Amino acid sequence: MSLTDFIKAMPKVELHVHLQGATQPETWLELAERNGVKLPASTIEGMREWFVFKDFPHFIQIYMAVCGTIRTADDVEFMAKRFLAGQAEQNIRYTEITYTPHLHYKIAGLDARTQLDALNRARKWAEHTHDIKCGFILDISRNVTPEEGLWTTDMAIMGMNEGVVALGLGGPEVGHPPEKHAISFQKAHAAGLACILHAGETEGPASIWGAIKQGSVRIGHGVRCIEDPKLVAYLRETQIPLEVSPTSNVCLGVFPSMQQHPLPKLISDGLYVTLNSDDPPMFNTSLTNEYLTVAEVFGMDEAALTGLVINGIRASRLSESEKAAMEAEFKREFERLKIQI
Ligand SMILES: [Zn+2]
Repeated sequence: MSLTDFIKAMPKVELHVHLQGATQPETWLELAERNGVKLPASTIEGMREWFVFKDFPHFIQIYMAVCGTIRTADDVEFMAKRFLAGQAEQNIRYTEITYTPHLHYKIAGLDARTQLDALNRARKWAEHTHDIKCGFILDISRNVTPEEGLWTTDMAIMGMNEGVVALGLGGPEVGHPPEKHAISFQKAHAAGLACILHAGETEGPASIWGAIKQGSVRIGHGVRCIEDPKLVAYLRETQIPLEVSPTSNVCLGVFPSMQQHPLPKLISDGLYVTLNSDDPPMFNTSLTNEYLTVAEVFGMDEAALTGLVINGIRASRLSESEKAAMEAEFKREFERLKIQI
């Protein structure tokens, strides 16, 4: 078995992937037709062309347009099931899915309970049909008001025993520091809910320090920590996991090319790194492709790659016993696959 085949076959986990951003153009087209919503393209080829990332304003334009095709709870369930089937195809056994519910409350009037039930129908379906698990990170888009942020926080707290594993913060980083939504993070912490913030992607170290101050248990991206040696030292010492998404970073121009991506440096500096796909079809990638890419560009071998998978398990919001069981199971499977190399 080649390293490529090993990567495709190995069990994986994913901690940073947006449900709306991971939905394939085909699914959006189906939703648009179902609900009579017009998108800028009406064929699969046209959708694929329009859907690919060009720049950040275009990215937001796509996001808003496709999210407008979601009208009912069934649509949310359908989108989540399609996504989870795609995760199963990549042998991703556990996913922490970031989902932005307030958008669909605003656009289609879908209330928190309706959306939570739809997500959980998909979660249970995936467990039964594909034998894979998932949890939900409900994220506040940082451009909304603190009051609107609290709407998402209340939904996340309501869902703590129904698949919700954390409150997140996503959306445009520039001009919207983590402190803006401090009231939401305080409320989540008081309820015993973890917070996982995007930071250090399109903004620099100050944003990451801000996320740390808000008690973020992992950092979504965090790659621009390399601009601040004190922050690198802090992240090494605390081992706060970074959710690194190399292709997304290159597409967004955070780094000029994959060759110049700091993933190997982050690892050699002793930071806690996990590998993720973020918004895969928009960046023409997948989690499997992220592993293939870092193997090829940085010459990472099977031990380094499986190390990143294990990092994902340990940094997840699963219980300690679930993590231990999954790690043992994955290691057995890695060994079985290695024999075939
Ligand atoms: Zn993200």
